[in-house]
Formats: sequence, structure tokens, C-alpha cells
Amino acid sequence: MTIAFLGLGNMGGPMAANLVAAGHTVAGFDVVPAALDRARERGVTVAEDAATAVADADVVITMFPSGAQVLDAYRGGLLAAARPGTLFIDSSTIDVADAVAAHELAVAAGHRGMDAPVSGGTVGAEAGTLTFMVGAETDDFAAAQPILEIMGGRVVHCGGAGAGQAAKICNNMILGVSMIAVSEAFVLGEKLGLTNQALFDVASAASGQCWALTTNCPVPGPVPSSPANRDYQPGFAGALMAKDLGLALHALEQTGTAAELGPLAARIYQRYAEEGGAGRDFSGIITVIRDKSAEPPSATAKPDH
Ligand code: NAD
Repeated sequence: MTIAFLGLGNMGGPMAANLVAAGHTVAGFDVVPAALDRARERGVTVAEDAATAVADADVVITMFPSGAQVLDAYRGGLLAAARPGTLFIDSSTIDVADAVAAHELAVAAGHRGMDAPVSGGTVGAEAGTLTFMVGAETDDFAAAQPILEIMGGRVVHCGGAGAGQAAKICNNMILGVSMIAVSEAFVLGEKLGLTNQALFDVASAASGQCWALTTNCPVPGPVPSSPANRDYQPGFAGALMAKDLGLALHALEQTGTAAELGPLAARIYQRYAEEGGAGRDFSGIITVIRDKSAEPPSATAKPDH
């Protein structure tokens, strides 16, 4: 099978390399020459432009930063350059409305389209263990599944066009809110004189248990592999959490969903990204909460009796 892969950045580069390693011919293109050089070293056949990359492809995968870039590329000649019936898979994390628009453009041009965003980060992209969340017609999902399984450990059909992006932003809204909740609880525990380990030992086996606590624990010590143990090197960068919560906020507004914590988390991570957290792990939000927490009159006051 011939696959065109456009957007060979931190995620797309290793994803394309895994397709090459599985025996597929991958024609790649990126607007950044350094990304092309890295892809060439990993066996990707570098095309001189996007139209050339897609001309002979059975499948076209895009992995861009934003929805505007996906729609610009689709409208700007990508769809016109492909053979009729080509399967267009967009794996970028973008707005649900943009994903639906991209799907409609692909179908109107005589192709098949789907949204298939991922979670698992650059580590998952290298290891081929990403989770794909797919919005597609059933037949198109069946056609894409064997390809996605090369790059991912889990491939979930979430529904029709846009459903993959919907699942992605809902999941990341849970993640953003729960990381703030876990971080606030640790700072409160510290102020009440609890050790972080004691709170972890209780909450990780009680009703406070969640991924933000037990896998990406925001304090060093209890989970040695969490970014807190390496000064919050990502991991999942604050800029990406701010981006995903911005998409969630837009979807909340568009659907009239009466959410309070999602928009608040979006504001908190936007500020975190603007004030130095963009390149740090999103669990570093705990340092902001700790820094802002005033010393109370009696910091670790214990009851008199
Ligand atoms: P990146 O910036 O490293 O890579 C994007 C690449 O797309 C860049 O190399 C850029 O030059 C290229 N590009 C942009 N417009 C192009 C065009 N018209 N033609 C060809 N190439 C073009 O970003 P990334 O970290 O690889 O993320 C890609 C997507 O995956 C984003 O939507 C992001 O939100 C999502 N995502 C990222 C992670 C992560 O941990 N990095 C995790 C999950 C999802």
C-alpha cells in the first residue's frame, strides 16, 4: 500500500517511520526541511511537494498543528491532487467543527475522510502504542484499522465524522481538570502537615484514584516515572494542554454545555502556558498553586484537642 504522510514533526515523523518499518511505501512531505531530512533518514520517500506526495497514494495521513492548516491543505490542492476514492485520515488534534468540515470537503471531492486524533504523546508515537480515536463511516474505519494498528496499540471507532475529535477533547478535559484537583489536594495536604507519600498511599487506593495521581503524579517520589521527578520535563507539555482545553472550551460554547470546571481549567492552563509552563509538563501546574498559596496564620495548625 502506498501511504502519503504530511506533517513529519514530533508525532508525524515517528508515526511515518513505523509505517515504513511495517513494509509500506511512505511518501512524506513537510514544509520544514529539517523534518524532511529526519524522515529521509528513517526510510520515508521524501516528495518535493504535498501534491506529488499524494498523487499515487491509497491513503493520505495529515498530522498538523491546527485545523486551519488541515483545511488550507485540503482546499489548497491536496484533495485535487489525489486519485478518486483516496482515504484521507487526519490525525491532528483540531476543532470538532473543523474535523467535520474536513470530512465533508474530502467526500465532496470524491474521496473518503476520517478524523483519527491520538493520545500517547511522542513516546507512544515512537513505540507504535498510540491510542487512536476515530470518527468515520464503518466501511472506512475497517479500511483504516490495519494501518492505524501499526502506529497504535488501541484503535477505537467513536462514531461518525468528528466523533474522534469529540472523544479526544472530552478525555483531555477530564485530564486537565483532574490534574488541577490532584495538585490542589497535594498543596492542601502539605499545608495540613501531611506528607505527599501519605496522601498518595491513601488516595491512590481510595476514591481519589485517577491517572493524574497514579501515573503522572505531580509531586516527586510516589511515582518515580512521573515528570515531577525530572523537574517537569514533558511528558505532555503545558502548551498542548492549553491548546486542547481551548478546543474543549470552544465545543462547550458551541453546544451550550453548562460546564464550569472545563472553562476554568482552560483559563488556568492558558495562563500556565503564557507564564513559563508552555514547554513544561502540565503537572507543573502544582508549582503555580504552591507559589500562589499564602502562608496562613498557623501554617500547619493542629486542632487543640
Ligand atoms: P509539530 O509541530 O512537531 O509537527 C507538525 C508538523 O506539521 C511540522 O513539522 C510542520 O512543519 C508541519 N506542517 C504544518 N503545515 C504543513 C503543511 N501544510 N504541509 C506539510 N507539513 C506541514 O507538532 P506535533 O507535536 O507533531 O503535533 C501534531 C499534532 O498532534 C497536533 O495537532 C497536536 O495537538 C497533536 N498531538 C501531539 C501530541 C504530542 O505529544 N506532541 C500528542 C497528541 C496529539
